[in-house]
Amino acid sequence: MPIPLTKAIDKFPRVRLGHAPTPLDPAPLLGKALGIELWIKRDDCTGLAMGGNKVRQLEFPLGEAQSRDADTLLITSAVQSNYVRVAAAAGRQLGMETHIQLEERVPDVDALYRSSGNVLLDRLFGAKLHSFPVGDDEPAADASLDLLAQTLAQEGRRPYVIHLAPAHPPLGALGYVLAAEETLAQARALDLKFDAVVCPTGSALTHAGFLVGLRTLGKEVPVYGICVRRDAGSQAARVRQVAEQLAAMIERPEVFDADEVEAFDGVLAPGYGRLNDAVREAISLAARQEGLLLDPVYTGKTMAGLIEHVRSGVIPEGSRVLFIHTGGLPAIFAYGDRLGNWLSDVPWETTDLDR
Ligand SMILES: *Cc1c(COP(=O)(O)O)cnc(C)c1O
Repeated sequence: MPIPLTKAIDKFPRVRLGHAPTPLDPAPLLGKALGIELWIKRDDCTGLAMGGNKVRQLEFPLGEAQSRDADTLLITSAVQSNYVRVAAAAGRQLGMETHIQLEERVPDVDALYRSSGNVLLDRLFGAKLHSFPVGDDEPAADASLDLLAQTLAQEGRRPYVIHLAPAHPPLGALGYVLAAEETLAQARALDLKFDAVVCPTGSALTHAGFLVGLRTLGKEVPVYGICVRRDAGSQAARVRQVAEQLAAMIERPEVFDADEVEAFDGVLAPGYGRLNDAVREAISLAARQEGLLLDPVYTGKTMAGLIEHVRSGVIPEGSRVLFIHTGGLPAIFAYGDRLGNWLSDVPWETTDLDR
């Protein structure tokens, strides 16, 4: 008998940051428009500092930071990163100073990209910002944080580094094992069985965590990861690497089958953090069919991938589909000028005061 899942996860120190359970909502109008029965796991509603998947993910590294009595957090990601924004807020909640390293992952950005959305919130939380002029070298980004941590330690601080590269144990994925358990309990209460799960896949903490969580709990439903960062081949390798480490961490090395990782990069172009028409359409459709917000970097792309999977028949029409909404909403404002003409086409009439 394997040890119970909660016991395997309880070994890891954790701080509660988020509101859970997040809602599991039906999206009947958007589902109808797509020809499926659509349900949304509302992890955009995890609470802290405008929420998103990073709230669940940070509960474990920050638990470790606290158990080591750290007083300073260091984290690295893209300029419009949701991860660093939530870390900056969590740092304040736990009385820690946060250093944020912002990598130049997206070319040709406008002024709004550098001032609004998550950057505005990072500044509001008083995080210390460091610019890293490289966008696609995770080991170098981690090494740069380690160097900064050394300097801070010499100044008498007690730093904790949240590394990016998969060479480090994927503590954050534990949050998504728990999210899978939470979602299954909700589905059971509603007497629902899903035919497919769709989620974004970037660092792979969400994808691998949810997948391993489902398999650990005996559910065989396919999990379609939609690539937001790298091509399908590299991404599938990343998910496997994270899932294997994770399954070993929770002492269930046998639950994960490397052959079953699904990664789709058909809506990724022109690359990370860059819009395309399929993404603009998906954001518009969700907003106008269902009053549902999606973000331009992750969930908009993921919904575009879901739509593509239904069109191509990978997800058959009429399927009951679970979409994991991972948040990211502050970035809408940073991408405001790039979202498309459909926004300025909305009528805005002047009232005639003499009518
Ligand atoms: C980081 C992020 C993702 C990607 O999740 P990973 O766990 O890194 O794969 C998806 N959606 C949003 C909104 C994010 O901030």
